Amino acid sequence: MESEFGDRVKLTINDLRGVEKKSEIYHITESDMYLYSAYTPLVEEITSVVDKIREVFPKAVHVAGGPHINCFPEESEKYFDSVVFDDGEKSIVSLVNDFKKSQLKPVYKQLDKILYNDYPTANRKYLTTRAVVDTGVMRGKNIDLKGASVIFSRGCPFKCVFCANHQYGRIYYRTAAQVSEEVEYLKKEYKIEALALRDDNAIPLKKSIAIPFLETMGQSNILWRGQTRTNDIRPEWVKLAKEAGCVDLALGVESASQKVLDIVDKKTDIIETKKYIRLLKKTGIVVRMHIIMGLPGESKNIVQETLDLVDDTNPDSVLLLLLCPMPGTPLYETPERFGIKLKSTGWRNFQLLFGRQDENELPAISFEYEKDTPLGKSLSNQEILSNYVELQEIFRKRNLNF
Ligand code: SF4
Repeated sequence: MESEFGDRVKLTINDLRGVEKKSEIYHITESDMYLYSAYTPLVEEITSVVDKIREVFPKAVHVAGGPHINCFPEESEKYFDSVVFDDGEKSIVSLVNDFKKSQLKPVYKQLDKILYNDYPTANRKYLTTRAVVDTGVMRGKNIDLKGASVIFSRGCPFKCVFCANHQYGRIYYRTAAQVSEEVEYLKKEYKIEALALRDDNAIPLKKSIAIPFLETMGQSNILWRGQTRTNDIRPEWVKLAKEAGCVDLALGVESASQKVLDIVDKKTDIIETKKYIRLLKKTGIVVRMHIIMGLPGESKNIVQETLDLVDDTNPDSVLLLLLCPMPGTPLYETPERFGIKLKSTGWRNFQLLFGRQDENELPAISFEYEKDTPLGKSLSNQEILSNYVELQEIFRKRNLNF
């Protein structure tokens, strides 16, 4: 926006984190146009902010993009003045130009893919320092380091049937030179000591990209954490990652059952997953295992299978999530393939994946399985919920919960 419009457009970021709901409106600057990056778990908050702004500044227009808009296109088009589908870098320029000519369209969608590397390092100068760098970005013994969040790639080449990233189908990486530039910028301007990589795959999946990336991170002399798949990272990259400052990896293991992994198109082999976890642990990288309960194809034995996997690999923590089929994913769009009956369709009934934070909170499921599915006998919702609670209790007693 800045390189396109210079000082012809005034940009402000309204950071409402930590602001009490009733005071939010006093922290929002009056503008002609408000832009929102919408994620489904945040959509209630976003719409409540939009409603307030509409009352106080009725002439302003509200434009939203992001994963939520792609998942709920019709509801989003009705609610916002304009919506942006898919990558937004070019659309945002078009819509500002259209707005200046009083010709804002209700929908913007780029036909050609964004070349991610054409864009400069994200400049954080519009954000407060606290919003860029803070403690608590890292985990465990590194929690007090001053850290920032970054993202060096966009998308994922896999198509797991439960994943809301499903529409991407390919991945774009920043070059090693761009990674270096961003890290050095954050070190110089914000004195960061650590980074949380928010990429779907923090270690690139291709050798020709992974090696220069890891070498660059190593030269930056900074600690970092991220998440990876469990099968596509070569053993020599793990050693290099450790030397490059990687201290903590979350792994999308998803299920202990190979049958389930095959059904959800995870394209991982549980034997290879176990080898990868053992290697990470041996190398001194903290392992955070992510498991989703309620996936299609689970047997009555899923609790024991999960415990066996955890006993076998000894992760440092386990994040248990409950499946929620999101619009746009094969689970939602072709539920009959999996014997799924969806209970609700409005955006307020979805969250990406349910993770119970408090033992008194009652877990909830937004779907149920037919008794007999094309994949065989299914578990009832009661069984899925009781498996979830039972495992969470066991992991809590073992101090493994997130
Ligand atoms: S779950 Fe992970 S590997 Fe699968 S499509 Fe999503 S981001 Fe990619």
